[in-house]
Amino acid sequence: MLKLEKVSKFYSSGGVVATGFSKVDLELGIGEFVAITGESGSGKSTLLNVISGLDSYEEGEMYVNGSATSGYTKEDLEGYRKKYIGNIFQTFNLINSYTVYQNVELSLLMSGCDSKDVEEKVHDIIAKVGLTEYEKTKASKLSGGQKQRVAIARALAKETPIIVADEPTGNLDSQSAAEVIELLHNLSKNKLIIIVTHNYDQVEKYVTRKISMHDGRIVEDKKLSQQDQAENFDGGDIQEAISDTLTAKNTVKLGIRNTFNIPAKFLLMLAVFVFLCGGIISSYTATMNSQDSMDSGYNEFFKDVRKERILVTKPDEKVFTKEDYKKLKAVSNVDTIVKNDISLDSLGYISDDSEFWIMGKITPMKDFKGRIEVGREPETAKEVVVMIPKEGYAQDVIDSALDKKATLSNDYTGESMIDGKVKIVGYGYLTDEEEEELVESVGYCEGYFCLTDKGMNQIRYNALKGYSQQTGKYAGMDIEGLYLKTSEDVPEGSVIIGEGISSMSEYWPIGQELTIRNKSKYFDDTYKFSVYSVVTRDNCEYLLGAKNFDDVEGFTYMNPKDYRKMFEKGNYQSSVMVKDRKLVRETIKEIEELGYNCFYVRDGLVKYSEEADTILKTIMMLVLAFTLIVLFFITYFIMKLILKSRNIYYSTIRMLGGTKGDCSNLIKVEVITVANIAFLICMGLVALVKAGFIRVNYLIQIVGFLNPVDCVIIYVVIIAMSILLAGRFSKALFKKTAMNAYKEEV
Ligand code: ADP
Ligand code: MG
Repeated sequence: MLKLEKVSKFYSSGGVVATGFSKVDLELGIGEFVAITGESGSGKSTLLNVISGLDSYEEGEMYVNGSATSGYTKEDLEGYRKKYIGNIFQTFNLINSYTVYQNVELSLLMSGCDSKDVEEKVHDIIAKVGLTEYEKTKASKLSGGQKQRVAIARALAKETPIIVADEPTGNLDSQSAAEVIELLHNLSKNKLIIIVTHNYDQVEKYVTRKISMHDGRIVEDKKLSQQDQAENFDGGDIQEAISDTLTAKNTVKLGIRNTFNIPAKFLLMLAVFVFLCGGIISSYTATMNSQDSMDSGYNEFFKDVRKERILVTKPDEKVFTKEDYKKLKAVSNVDTIVKNDISLDSLGYISDDSEFWIMGKITPMKDFKGRIEVGREPETAKEVVVMIPKEGYAQDVIDSALDKKATLSNDYTGESMIDGKVKIVGYGYLTDEEEEELVESVGYCEGYFCLTDKGMNQIRYNALKGYSQQTGKYAGMDIEGLYLKTSEDVPEGSVIIGEGISSMSEYWPIGQELTIRNKSKYFDDTYKFSVYSVVTRDNCEYLLGAKNFDDVEGFTYMNPKDYRKMFEKGNYQSSVMVKDRKLVRETIKEIEELGYNCFYVRDGLVKYSEEADTILKTIMMLVLAFTLIVLFFITYFIMKLILKSRNIYYSTIRMLGGTKGDCSNLIKVEVITVANIAFLICMGLVALVKAGFIRVNYLIQIVGFLNPVDCVIIYVVIIAMSILLAGRFSKALFKKTAMNAYKEEV
């Protein structure tokens, strides 16, 4: 069975070579019950470890069933151990967090048993060592004798032909020791038993061969003819060794068991992985967040450059109908439609030329219903309520601005947005989110100007006037640019013209025809008016109530109703706001497929600097990668500390014939299980934040940028990291030989 020829084992550490044992010749066979004795340090354990394949040897040759083992690789040794050797130790080496049942079962699972009769087998073996009533007891709770009986059961369960026991009774009282030896003897017929012992008396009864060692050499090798042993030994009946490996199913089963069986370790690992997940999520979202906000620039025409905004027009340049809006609303990812989106791009300032100058975005009052703190709602087209931040310039001047006559002018053109003077009649405050949104959509500005629907219409007409061109024809002559204004003093169908136009004809102007052509990208209309009067320096106050001729000079006045007819055009352009800005390209595609023209406002941005953007983005990605690597190593070192207590577990697995692959798979299952739970916990937190149950600004910001795709990316990163972590950890475990790893731990 086993044959050693001049086998020597040396230890070298720090240049000093120590001899474990030297030039050992030995031939051992099935059926023998061998006792090895000798004083401490004589090389007994070393010899046993070499025989068990736990340690290598430097000289000579060991044959197993006739084949030489000196050329064995690590994997061959693992296979040999698994197939031939059952180990029993002085220190038991049970898995303390496992029950008796699980300890024995482990041995079977490691040998590749996958059949349903594992359970039966385990019960059977436990019964044989007399521990049936302790099956569900954790190994740590057993007495020494009981522990050693479990160890015997575990060794027997492997069904190996050789059982090797290194001072199995060293930690036991004499009563238990005697029981253990008897058990070992009774249960292991037809095997080769090798026991190392200090106490030869204990084993004497059963021994068929006595080997004494001194100073690394065998000094006595005596075969004792013991009757009953000879009787029982029936020669060639070598037990069929099992040599299968741990199945995938059992790897998962054991891995999950290992995850949870030490609650403190599990909680620590979980904490580490929640930290890892949190770190990954926050560094990922922080990067995405700043990349996103870096994507900035300006556009003079579009004031609202929110990423959610898509401009939509019709290819036939017609006005949007209800049907159109219905179709657009049905597009997935569409949140709202701003039908008259001119207001989105209207940025104006209210000023009295000396005391205050407030900038704001024009909004219908209904958007801020019921939010007035001081003053009242606007009632006419010329009354404004402002919504401002609680602190800042606007708050400082607002009280003095209340009820003063002022002008509302377009921020870009400087032109009046509402004819005549306006008045701030009330104000209210913005919420933090509104303030943020305002900054995001238009950059710096004080707040919102809230107007009545009438006021909004006027602004719209004026804006439309700005986007279109008005020309005229008077007395057969073309007028290049007409500057239109409204006055209630002009009857419908008539106009008051200036002297500039009237002088184009030598005829009396009153009653003459003025043709006005209103033309834009979308429309081209012609209207006929009759001249009502000509405004002069002398009659301007009488005609139009203007004290100052400069205010009215050069303008053509018409009745507001005519003006409205001219500019109330419906919407040629609307804006669609999407729910998820990341899917905006898909949404644009979808809308275009419906037959509309789209323009993504962000595409029209003038970038501050393209190159700087690219460089910054690259740096950010590098920082992210670096952060992930740092996180990985922090996690690795903490995990290594936690898992240090697990080294003994994996050494034991190796004792039982577990391969490197088995251990690394078990670690992977354990780590991935914890990682998954940690990920779920983090996602739970994300869901709570998203649902508004947790109101921490930092978290809200982080979570705001997470969409399902990100979660998948983060999940993949976490699992990949876990696999790497497990791989590193198992590699570190296997740097040492099984025995050295073991000695360090015990
Ligand atoms: P025993 O089990 O008979 O008490 P060992 O087999 O443990 O003796 O040790 C035999 C010899 O090998 C001793 O001289 C011991 O110092 C040495 N030895 C054992 N293990 C190591 C090791 N890991 N490194 C160096 N020397 C060792
Ligand atoms: Mg020893």
